[in-house]
Amino acid sequence: MPVVSVSMPAELIDRLDAHATEHDYTGRSEVVRESARTLLTEFDDERFVDESLAGVVTVFYDFGTQHVERRVTELRHEHDADIASNDHSHVADYCVDCFVLESDLEAISTFVGKLRAIEDVETVDYSLVPLESIGQLQDA
Ligand SMILES: [Zn+2]
Repeated sequence: MPVVSVSMPAELIDRLDAHATEHDYTGRSEVVRESARTLLTEFDDERFVDESLAGVVTVFYDFGTQHVERRVTELRHEHDADIASNDHSHVADYCVDCFVLESDLEAISTFVGKLRAIEDVETVDYSLVPLESIGQLQDA
């Protein structure tokens, strides 16, 4: 298989190697391959295909990283049709943007992916709920 060269912080390499050892992977390449597969199939969930979804997305980044805040604002404008609300808060030394979206899986996954791709973003989390399931009791 082809060999690729990837640059990453030394601390991340150390964590990859420790994870490989702890979980009996053959090495860091296997961990990176598994991580890539997981990322690329993250939104392959039949429950959400062709559904109208509510999504809550949170983004954490260091206070003072203006290029991050600028890019988050750009994305808010680019995805305005999908965003029901947006709130900017501060927790400890972090800026936190919380987005509520109403859209489909493709639009929300694209938005999450673009946020993750911003250099120096610390954390991007999300939850998805099909609109039709809201308020329904789940009987066994
Ligand atoms: Zn802020």
